Amino acid sequence: MSSIEEQVRKVLLLEKGKGLHDRAVLGGLDRYLKRLVENHSLGPQSPLLRSIAALPSHGYASLDAARRRRWIESALSTASADAAAPARPGLGKTAAGRSKRPASTPVPPPKPRAPSKEPTASENPLETPITVLRGVREAIAAKFARLAVRTVRDALYFFPRRHNDFGQVRKISELMVGQEQTTIVNVWSAEDTRIGRRLRGTEAWVADDTGMMRVVWFNQPYLARQLRTNAPLVLSGRVNLYKGQKTFESPEWELLESEELVHTGRLVPVYALTSGLPARTARRVVREALDTYLDVLPDILPDELRQRRHLWPLQQAVRKMHYPDGLEELDEARRRLAFDELLVIQLGVLRRRRLWQEGGRARPLALPEPLLRGFLESLPFQLTGAQRRAMASVLSDLGQERPMSRLLQGDVGSGKTVVAAAALVAAIGSGYQGVLMAPTEILAEQHYRTLCSLLDGGEAMARTGAFSPPYLEKPLRIALLKGSLPSKEKAAVQRQVAEGAVDIAVGTHALIQEGVDFQRLGLAIVDEQHRFGVMQRAALRGKGPSPHLLVMTATPIPRTLALTLYGDLDISVIDEMPPGRKPIKTLWTMPTEREDAYRFVREQVGQGRQTFVICPLIEESEAVAVRAATQEYERLSQEVFPSLRVGLLHGRLRATEKDRVMRAFRDHELDILVSTAVVEVGIDVPNATVMMVEGADRFGLAQLHQFRGRVGRGADQSYCLLLSDDPSEVAQERLKLMEQTHDGFALAEADLRLRGPGEFFGTRQSGMPDLKVARLSDVQLIEEAREVAAGLLDADPDLTAAEHALLAAEAARLWSRVVDEPH
Ligand code: ADP
Ligand code: MG
Repeated sequence: MSSIEEQVRKVLLLEKGKGLHDRAVLGGLDRYLKRLVENHSLGPQSPLLRSIAALPSHGYASLDAARRRRWIESALSTASADAAAPARPGLGKTAAGRSKRPASTPVPPPKPRAPSKEPTASENPLETPITVLRGVREAIAAKFARLAVRTVRDALYFFPRRHNDFGQVRKISELMVGQEQTTIVNVWSAEDTRIGRRLRGTEAWVADDTGMMRVVWFNQPYLARQLRTNAPLVLSGRVNLYKGQKTFESPEWELLESEELVHTGRLVPVYALTSGLPARTARRVVREALDTYLDVLPDILPDELRQRRHLWPLQQAVRKMHYPDGLEELDEARRRLAFDELLVIQLGVLRRRRLWQEGGRARPLALPEPLLRGFLESLPFQLTGAQRRAMASVLSDLGQERPMSRLLQGDVGSGKTVVAAAALVAAIGSGYQGVLMAPTEILAEQHYRTLCSLLDGGEAMARTGAFSPPYLEKPLRIALLKGSLPSKEKAAVQRQVAEGAVDIAVGTHALIQEGVDFQRLGLAIVDEQHRFGVMQRAALRGKGPSPHLLVMTATPIPRTLALTLYGDLDISVIDEMPPGRKPIKTLWTMPTEREDAYRFVREQVGQGRQTFVICPLIEESEAVAVRAATQEYERLSQEVFPSLRVGLLHGRLRATEKDRVMRAFRDHELDILVSTAVVEVGIDVPNATVMMVEGADRFGLAQLHQFRGRVGRGADQSYCLLLSDDPSEVAQERLKLMEQTHDGFALAEADLRLRGPGEFFGTRQSGMPDLKVARLSDVQLIEEAREVAAGLLDADPDLTAAEHALLAAEAARLWSRVVDEPH
């Protein structure tokens, strides 16, 4: 095929790919072809000429879509038939050159030519802004941008939040309590109202020809304005009973803009919307992207791999994600796309793990048996079995030249610190330094104290940080690096760390990352991992030639989530509590019993104890949450507990201010601490015995469990009071579970099942890329993806093979997004 024909072929492919709207070339296809024929001498045998001649006299522009497609396909097929045929003299030979792609005969390479001008073919059409789509102007593009949809690819991957199943629409009279259902109704009335004691929301009455019912949306009072009387409305969600009447609670909703929708398909996609972007527009734009560009979306999986794993081709999966014929198809589509997501994540984490392990050799840090025994004997308690197992894994890792990369998981109070201390003793005993980083200054202080006490045989007297444990040959020096230290002192500590005079440095990550160089760092420990992003981990590793890394977290993370989030780490779990702990008495309290609860708090405070009060979670915005917490603080401090010392903690406070409030509470300068969810992180206040959670049904189980872990740290019996104004059935189930279960892992699993990963773990916090399709409850698929990723990296460690190019690009894109985000 001649280069001209090659060029025309590309133009035709592009035209086809872009949906046959005659927009492949500027000025239209007819003009382009005319000029082509005029400017080049095409032989009479040219298939191209024959194709052009086959166009009707009014040209391509006059054809409808079906005819356009037919013409292009026939033109393309003659062209490719020609290309496949052996080159014959006279055929396809033009002024521009000779056969470009010889089939098999070795021919001298063609002379380098100036690249031909191919206006659009050189840039990836998938990366062009969505304004290339028909009917998408800047205003609409700006709305989509708010949903992170900017390019054509984004639009193809803008998957519906759900589908309205118009094959399954029920009348109001047919709605069943407790099931997920869709109904189409008219709005009778909608008003912004108070729901329960303190929540604002929208209450609406809707009707169809079989009856009427109540709908409530919690925390969304602004909806009332959007639901005009008589507006046709689609509602999807669960129906509950409220005072004996069927009620939709916070259902998904959509104003029905056209009855036609109902008839266009059984499953109609429903996209996430932003204000000013009508559902119909969203649907139309995505549809346009599918119709014009899906053809050019390349499959990132090598064919052989895809087939072996029984996964759908990418284009089919994307199409069916939007427009499935039936739920089975949706499942298949989802499986393919979820696999892609998980695979790319696993490629990222496993590659990082390999780089880490191969990147440099660590110093083996041996802990000789007598030393270990000496340390254990110095402790005021016996390790639990789980602690011993975790310690054995850690110490065995430390003995290797391959740097350790381990996550230590254990519920609050399970005793992680002593395992960390054993690791530090191993480092020091081998002549190296260790560092322990915490997310806040007050936690760093706490660790410092705990470590001093553990390394000094349970005596918390080593305030200076210098002491001589009997099992070590030399005195030991621990330093606390605080941001609030006078700068001269800070500089002095940093110098001692750099000179090797300090064996263990404890501090916040910011502080340690800023200006500290270690003389010989052998071990880095990070506490409360979920506050740290991937980058912090990387930066920390950069502190020594290749220090061993131990990450500790008190958040019970179900195995699937751990594999995904921390796929680059080995995992140890401490799943056993030290003996003699009193379980925290947990009580789901009715709103009518709030006064009793307050009386109980007064009583506990009267006995010298302290109380946390957590304010309800409010999704709308941080500002709203802060206002609500402030109001609650004022109410409690002025009306309910006027004679007690009440403090307030929320996310808008500066870090130093937060530390100040926490410190005041820890030092018993406050009796009651009113807080938003920020208190979650593992601070020890042994004197606090009551955790009171308002709006408890709005928190995840794992989070409630974290709250509960804030009390019960001392010798006294502790209590957790869960208040909830109007819990739905699911919420009631969850609250009951909280009363019965004290096992963080069981609660985390239940949470994942009941609410999904997004709720379980804010992804921004976790440093994990957003999952759009994959579900973390899908253990099998995650493990499959991990296996495939490991296989790919074994065969092609840097993913440089041609068939892995797209996967490599995808992984790079995903991880660059994650890594860009500071935490
Ligand atoms: P966390 O896992 O929440 O960090 P810590 O390491 O702070 O828990 O331990 C909580 C408390 O339990 C500490 O006071 C610690 O001294 C104590 N502790 C740890 N292990 C044991 C044990 N095996 N027996 C008794 N007490 C223990
Ligand atoms: Mg701890």
